[in-house]
Amino acid sequence: MAPDTLSFAFDNSYARLPERFYARLDPTPVAAPRLLKLNAALAAELGLDAAALASPAGVEMLAGNRVAPGSLPIALAYAGHQFGNFVPQLGDGRAILLGEVIDRAGRRRDLQLKGSGPTPFSRRGDGRAALGPVLREYLVSEAMAALGIPTTRSLAAVATGEEIWREAPLPGAVLTRVAASHVRVGTFQFFAARGDTEALRLLADHVIERHYPEARTDANPYRALFAAVIARQATLVAGWMLVGFVHGVMNTDNCSVAGETIDYGPCAFMDVYKPDTVFSSIDQGGRYAYANQPRIAHWNLARFGETLLPLLAEDSDAALAMANETLATFQPRYGQALLAGMRRKLGLFTEESGDAALAQELLNAMAEGRADFTATFRALDPESDAAALPRFAATDGYEAWAVKWRERLAHEPRPAAERRAAMHAANPLYIPRNHRVEAVLAAAIEQGDLGPFEDFLAVLSKPFDARPGLEAYAEPPEGQGVYRTFCGT
Ligand code: AMP
Ligand code: MG
Repeated sequence: MAPDTLSFAFDNSYARLPERFYARLDPTPVAAPRLLKLNAALAAELGLDAAALASPAGVEMLAGNRVAPGSLPIALAYAGHQFGNFVPQLGDGRAILLGEVIDRAGRRRDLQLKGSGPTPFSRRGDGRAALGPVLREYLVSEAMAALGIPTTRSLAAVATGEEIWREAPLPGAVLTRVAASHVRVGTFQFFAARGDTEALRLLADHVIERHYPEARTDANPYRALFAAVIARQATLVAGWMLVGFVHGVMNTDNCSVAGETIDYGPCAFMDVYKPDTVFSSIDQGGRYAYANQPRIAHWNLARFGETLLPLLAEDSDAALAMANETLATFQPRYGQALLAGMRRKLGLFTEESGDAALAQELLNAMAEGRADFTATFRALDPESDAAALPRFAATDGYEAWAVKWRERLAHEPRPAAERRAAMHAANPLYIPRNHRVEAVLAAAIEQGDLGPFEDFLAVLSKPFDARPGLEAYAEPPEGQGVYRTFCGT
């Protein structure tokens, strides 16, 4: 391979920030890198040559064994509230930012290796990632992207040829993650906890420049930054709620100021609609349960606002008042985003005051009838209850609701085909259901067979388009058992 085919137009703006923002170090090489999966479409989007990435030199780069020209690898410093407890220093303990590239659309994107070896932030961890969690993040993040939900992306998964030790020996892997940036609420908290206002200002300016350039010309750019981050988080979490996604670890260090879903660990999609659904084995109190997610996002944004206080105004009372006033925009923003999404899911083109209650009544019927969230929404049909009814173990609630729904639909006559197409574009058919995710990971880990993973990825890449032969992928698990995910470490 010619050396210049593996060239990236790196422009590492984060590495130009002061040294206390990160630790400069290269990834730790692995024994036997082997490419498991490359995202050719994403590579093209990034202006990278997929063939060069899949070449031996490319795979060495994706494994951390070779540093590409122009890359300046760094591990980022950050802090964070984990399950409500503040930890003043976390940081990239097993990830390394290779650098930033400008994609074909002119957007700046981070290229990061996850599982690339120990860093000064590793604490007691080994800096590595296991194959299962790497493939899980690949699959779920790509599914989220296809669902139209802001998310980090997965460019590649590489086997390391090394074993790592968790409760048992596991095959190791490295994920190449692509993100709008890796700045988290916890990054701001890192400097706030140290009383480093100069760093806070530099970080805020970096984020404004990179993600919210319109804030620059506001009378108070930092207030505008706060408002913009709030708006993106509100939209993001509404997007999660509308597809039944449970992030699982909404710690402030896993809350991206760019508004992307980040750090896929013990995340999962809910099957049966149950607002208190928790998947994570470590979330004993249900802090990060499905229905709590908007509240937790608000809590995380309050922590973000606190870090901005010294930038908002000279006078601390004025700063606090401004922060609180801005934070108060979260709830209405979230409510609007959720309701707009619910209207799409119910096939409503117009707005009426009873719409939120109508949506809630369906959710109540689903909870009572132990109906599958995704399959039920997809089965809704203005013409017939034939597909929806079998989704409910108890149908009274649904039947009463359907009468009201049809009355509401009668207020806005539309061609049936148009409404059906709109509803199908809002209600996915294929999501990464837990039982399927587990099955494809088991095939990859136990049999070394990536076929089922590839097949599932292809299904999930078009989540709204029904295709013959894929019916089973749309079905909930039989028996709907209790499901637990384990922290992706
Ligand atoms: P996470 O739960 O993946 O968001 O990680 C929380 C913190 O623990 C971050 O600072 C990670 O870098 C760190 N961490 C997680 N797993 C490891 C590991 N295997 N080695 C070192 N640090 C880790
Ligand atoms: Mg994290």
